[in-house]
Amino acid sequence: MDKKFKHMETAMIHEGYDSKELLGSLTPPIFQTSTFTFDTAEQGAARFAGEEEGHVYTRVSNPTVQILEQKLAALEKAEKGLAFASGMAAISAVLIALTKANDHIICSSGLYGCTFGLLSMMDEKYNIQTDYVDMTEAQNIEEKIRPETKVFYIETPINPTMEVIDLELVITIAKKHDIYVVVDNTFSTPYLQRPIELGADVVVHSATKYLSGHGDVIAGIAAGRKKLMEQIAATTQKDIGGVLSPFDAWLVVRGMKTLPLRMDKHAENALQITEKLKQHPGIKHVFYPGDPDASGYPIMRKQMKSGGGTLSFEINGGKEEAQAFLNNLQFIHIAVSLGDTETLIQHPATMTHAVIPYEERQRMGITDSLIRLSVGIEAWQDIWEDLSQALKHLK
Ligand SMILES: *Cc1c(COP(=O)(O)O)cnc(C)c1O
Repeated sequence: MDKKFKHMETAMIHEGYDSKELLGSLTPPIFQTSTFTFDTAEQGAARFAGEEEGHVYTRVSNPTVQILEQKLAALEKAEKGLAFASGMAAISAVLIALTKANDHIICSSGLYGCTFGLLSMMDEKYNIQTDYVDMTEAQNIEEKIRPETKVFYIETPINPTMEVIDLELVITIAKKHDIYVVVDNTFSTPYLQRPIELGADVVVHSATKYLSGHGDVIAGIAAGRKKLMEQIAATTQKDIGGVLSPFDAWLVVRGMKTLPLRMDKHAENALQITEKLKQHPGIKHVFYPGDPDASGYPIMRKQMKSGGGTLSFEINGGKEEAQAFLNNLQFIHIAVSLGDTETLIQHPATMTHAVIPYEERQRMGITDSLIRLSVGIEAWQDIWEDLSQALKHLK
């Protein structure tokens, strides 16, 4: 957050944009253009040489996209943000920029399925190996560090097991060994958790989720130190080219204005649903970092404002029972993605995390009985009514 605004709620609305610079337009204009004209050939040459500030081509920079980049950077307390066409475009651009062939990555055990896919591809193509480690214990991490370890890649809370990792602990180890720390902050957003403030090098986001919040856009963002982000901008962002369109950037900026309101409601609802699920005989276990009984609760309190809006739970039964339960729901939608106003439910083992081999999935705690619930901002009583009627066949 810029020192201009003491409170996140204000920063979320005002950071990154000054209406005075754009004819007093309250909401940012959408600069729907592919390219930018130069006054003279010399000016074009100066822009390409980096001797003169200014836009050249929308794959390199665009004023609407920049508003989003500046807003997110300010909120994360990072020096510079970069917007991408998706969360995966952001994650791949960052990880490919930070590594070279034969490097090594240490990753939290349990992570977004496509990130697992990306890391597997980097291993196959460039021998960049990844160890998946239970990061709750320092010793587990220390044991796996090699001279070629370049990056710690962390999701916290972990998708979909909702385990919480102590960022301070992991960052301290990384600093000792001169290793980059990249944190996927999708589930928390800067409203709940700011890893850069704790010493992380880069945060990445699927802005598709809570940041935009309305299920109408696919977008990604990364933020970090100026020099590091400029390096990513000039290489894997510019030359792989997974950049965000101006209209989609505008949608994310619009969504972010209400993020604090939405996130508070998501978290309040998630806590209510957790309490109800915990009392249900058909439920084996509920995983929600905001639950005072959760093992990660003290760490959540240390580094997050609340437990957020996503939880998971294990039902009594396997894949068949899980599918029957989902099919019995009435208004809750079966869909991947999360952080939308609508409550969304999915079965990680056969959906978002199906690409992870069975054995690895078991190790990560992604069993066939696990269900992920992105609690929306409807009345929690309605959400619970639908869940409980669909759970009736479970004992
Ligand atoms: C959805 C998600 C991603 C991928 O983002 P896309 O915008 O779908 O590319 C990455 N990390 C986490 C934690 C996610 O939930």
